[in-house]
Amino acid sequence: MKILVINAGSSSIKYQLLDMTTGNDLASGIVERIGEEMGSISYKTDSKYTAEQPFPTHREGMVEVINLLTDADKGVVKEKSEIAAIGHRIVHGGELFFEPVEVDEKVLQGIRDCIPLAPLHNPGHVIGIETAMELFPGVRQVVVFDTSFHQTMEPKAYMYGVPYEYYENWGLRRYGAHGTSHKYVARETAKLLGKPLEESNIITVHLGNGASISAVKNGKCYDTSMGLTPLGGIIMGTRCGDIDPAIVGFIAERTGQSAAEVVTTLTNESGLKGICGSNDLRDIHARIEEGDEKAKLALDMACHKVRQFIGAYAFELGHVDAIVFTAGIGENDEIYRENCLSGLENFGITINKEKNNNWDRTPSFISEDDGAVKVCIIATNEELEIANDTVAVLGL
Ligand code: AMP
Repeated sequence: MKILVINAGSSSIKYQLLDMTTGNDLASGIVERIGEEMGSISYKTDSKYTAEQPFPTHREGMVEVINLLTDADKGVVKEKSEIAAIGHRIVHGGELFFEPVEVDEKVLQGIRDCIPLAPLHNPGHVIGIETAMELFPGVRQVVVFDTSFHQTMEPKAYMYGVPYEYYENWGLRRYGAHGTSHKYVARETAKLLGKPLEESNIITVHLGNGASISAVKNGKCYDTSMGLTPLGGIIMGTRCGDIDPAIVGFIAERTGQSAAEVVTTLTNESGLKGICGSNDLRDIHARIEEGDEKAKLALDMACHKVRQFIGAYAFELGHVDAIVFTAGIGENDEIYRENCLSGLENFGITINKEKNNNWDRTPSFISEDDGAVKVCIIATNEELEIANDTVAVLGL
């Protein structure tokens, strides 16, 4: 059975075709710069293909994806009817969606209603779904929300200390992000622990260019670092994470920028990049080697914040079975991982250097065997999680 996973943005479509019988990724790629004069498409199977061509709308992008998937030469399916169902990643489901659901008109309207909470993402998702419905008539579609895993948080964790009517009128609260990844790695961690997920307390540390940490209590999200938007929480590649909110007004007064412009600076020009000019850890480590002090400061600041959140969440949970690292930095950067967790033996948190430095990409522990809190690395797989959810929702 083949499931197509679609992640449509405002001007892009990421796609992946998975064979659910084997769990293998059959094809994947991205259509970019939709709506611009010249766009591009990549298509990866055993080999890689890229092309430049204009994609006036998402429709042309999706048509080209189907053409490649069914191409006599490069294709991995003979007919598009071989695709059993389509799963869509949706960034924001607000308080409307607690779990993945099959798409119907009411669900589509719900995603539209959440546009004020994710103005950059949800409009693209709606277009992606509508295009898929048009090009795959009769094929069932499921939506999987980045926010739904965090919907189990209690009000004490998701409310902000601002006038209550802001929540009532506009839904202003913490929603979290990366929920599909946190859910996937929490479940895989419980498997590794050999413990039922419903009895496991896990701190999930998703460290990519965007990054967030969740406290998972008895298998459910109890707290998470991202906020109303994916700008809050720990320090990220280009995003500032939690800061004193008065900073927005402080910068606006001095630069003459509007609040929205300041937020753009805090989103695109801040975080690691704001401190040292680089947002990729590979560059940052290379510069630290050359004695660059700002690069060292950026790394130390980011790890400092991760430690703070892990510490806070350990207290919130009371008992921690495991801490799991995932995503680009979490999976690849042993220095970052060690920096986040070193010197915590008194709290039962250990790192075995040998295991930390030689992770072989299979889900495994990197803590000392006698460490009370297990530390592990699990490669996240949001697309597989979306495909699994699609199969489960439709009972395929
Ligand atoms: P993601 O958003 O999960 O794709 O993660 C992307 C980020 O992972 C990049 O910006 C890098 O900072 C980091 N990254 C990727 N590969 C490596 C690596 N080999 N070593 C250290 N950091 C890495």
